[in-house]
Amino acid sequence: MRRMVLVLVLLIAGGARAADEKKPNWGYFDTPKLPSGWRVHDINRPRPPVVTPGAKSGAAPSDAIVLFDGTDLSNWVGTKQDNPKKKKYNPTGAALWKVENGYLECAPTGSIMTKQTFGDCQFHIEWQTANPRQGASQNAGNSGVFMMNRYETQVLDNYENRTYADGMAGCVYGQTPPMVNACRKPGEWQSYDIIFQAPRFEGETLVSPAYVTVLLNGVLVQHKTEILGPTSHKKRTAYKAHGKDVIALQDHDNNTRFRNIWIRELDLMKDDSKPE
Ligand code: MG
Repeated sequence: MRRMVLVLVLLIAGGARAADEKKPNWGYFDTPKLPSGWRVHDINRPRPPVVTPGAKSGAAPSDAIVLFDGTDLSNWVGTKQDNPKKKKYNPTGAALWKVENGYLECAPTGSIMTKQTFGDCQFHIEWQTANPRQGASQNAGNSGVFMMNRYETQVLDNYENRTYADGMAGCVYGQTPPMVNACRKPGEWQSYDIIFQAPRFEGETLVSPAYVTVLLNGVLVQHKTEILGPTSHKKRTAYKAHGKDVIALQDHDNNTRFRNIWIRELDLMKDDSKPE
């Protein structure tokens, strides 16, 4: 009898696991292991606790380059796609996202990129996901800020919306979950302040990885987190040498909105401790 119960329990557990495997947005069992010991998008990695953020976020300081002030996309380009049979047909490569009421809204025309390239920086952006929520898990308000067109800080409607920990808002996607879940409700404006230290290369050799610090709605969610390589899905990646590059906002087929985007260029590896 005891043996039968054990077999039954194992069968149920196996069935639950099989059912979970059919919901890949909740996580995975079969992806490569990270140095932390967790798998990429590990379904069993604990979700960070919830913190309710305060009410306000920030305006641009005097030395900032304003990338979007609510009026136009003159500082941005789009993703060229000159095959009319493709879903994201965009023959000119212009930034085709919608601008209205002081915000820009992702349109299914491909990701948009800054015209200017950047390295180390402090970056501010505000974002809003649809209310009511459309889709679930990774399909709810998904976008992302890609520093140097490679390293994503995830944008996602993560308010009471379960997904894998390293895919949550404020994560280094596929690598490091946010320290807490500081998301506001769908339809509320949220903010990111991202301090990004670019990777350094000597020739083809990596001499210093990228690091990122992120505040979500004023709450620290990443603290000088080492970035392990360019962002990917279900994979680990390795650095390849590159110089300054554009910042991209991801088109993930969700109508996420953005406003008040500014950047301060920095040199975070400059040694100011001694006279010249
Ligand atoms: Mg994303």
